[in-house]
Amino acid sequence: MSFFSYQNGELCAENIPLSKIAAQFGTPTYVYSKAALLENFSAYANACQGHDALICYAMKANSNLAVLNLLAQQGAGFDLVSGGELLRVIAAGGDPQKCLFSGVGKTRDEIRLALSHNILCFNVESIAELYSLNTIAGEMGKKAPISLRVNPNVDAKTHPYIATGLKDNKFGIAFEDALATYQAAAQLPHLHIVGIDCHIGSQLLDDAPLLAALDKLIELIDQLAEQGITLHHLDLGGGIGITYADERPVAVADYLGRVFARIASWRASKSGSQHTSIKVIFEPGRSIVGNAGVLLTKVEFLKPGAEKNFCIVDAAMNDLMRPAMYQAWMDVKAVNNAAAVEPSTYDVVGPICESGDWLARNRALAVQTGDLLAIMSAGAYGMTMASNYNTRGRPAEVMVADGHTHLIRQRETIESLFALESILLK
Ligand SMILES: *Cc1c(COP(=O)(O)O)cnc(C)c1O
Repeated sequence: MSFFSYQNGELCAENIPLSKIAAQFGTPTYVYSKAALLENFSAYANACQGHDALICYAMKANSNLAVLNLLAQQGAGFDLVSGGELLRVIAAGGDPQKCLFSGVGKTRDEIRLALSHNILCFNVESIAELYSLNTIAGEMGKKAPISLRVNPNVDAKTHPYIATGLKDNKFGIAFEDALATYQAAAQLPHLHIVGIDCHIGSQLLDDAPLLAALDKLIELIDQLAEQGITLHHLDLGGGIGITYADERPVAVADYLGRVFARIASWRASKSGSQHTSIKVIFEPGRSIVGNAGVLLTKVEFLKPGAEKNFCIVDAAMNDLMRPAMYQAWMDVKAVNNAAAVEPSTYDVVGPICESGDWLARNRALAVQTGDLLAIMSAGAYGMTMASNYNTRGRPAEVMVADGHTHLIRQRETIESLFALESILLK
């Protein structure tokens, strides 16, 4: 169900009119629905019931402490990509021992931090990283739990910027090299091999590429077992898509059902052998938070033109990068849909000095100056990708929960933007 719907001509977050939120907190503001967030998480949690599984929310999608805290309370683990993200998990009451550390460029300091908090696993992306981890763990008198991020070389059929499982990108270890890399890892005394992982891309609508990747991982796990290397977990990454326009992504329950069925038949075929038990890990990001948030913005000016009409709003590419960065299509809704004006076709643009500063193109909107618009499905890769370009403070973040609004991040002020800067002293 959608937690952002019209009630009496007014677009609401759960049962709270967005106009009320704009009046109280200003614009631009990200607005999230707690109920939507919990429903999306439950789709994974329910499908995992009765299975040995862990959901590690990919927090780069939305790492607000309130979001992390809610998911931690539901038992979520986290997939993180920096030391800063680990400290966020801890600040939000999450469990570091349910955390995976992904990413191609972990620094020594980040590795030390993660080892000191006993995270669940390092998702290793190169041989060089294996050696580095071994050295640092040795210095600390620890064993680093590791998984290799394998590149199953399946085509996720998504936007090139968010496809990550093909041979020619920077992520992961080539499938052909995986066995030898595991054997090298097995020789390193300060590593503990615990798993295998992959992440083939994002905004996937069909689970066929994910199931193809699962088959490749299973093939490798069997080969590893023959070499005496047994794994405790298998991590399929994230990637399930959401509806921005009229996409119909696979249902989470159906995808997970097929994963568990595939694993059950594999285990049955191997009964009596050593890997009759393996934990399955998922790293969903977008499918947890994407449709649980909108970006609320106000129309500053309408600028009709010979070729195009522009609807200039107070949100911009610094607040929401997805359109500028991935040519992403995001739905734009008038907060008040009982407007007295006729619709026109507009490009919805921000005030930033870049032609790439647009949020939506060629949209029929019935709007006037001062009206509010909602950019829909902006809960994932929205605020986390925001910047201060053009000396713009990042938006406020508000969560609607059980009939109340909560300010979960204040709008950045000019003072906060200047706080770390200084002029030269003579
Ligand atoms: C970004 C990312 C995810 C989450 O992807 P979604 O498409 O948002 O589900 C999961 N795992 C890794 C390693 C990632 O980089």
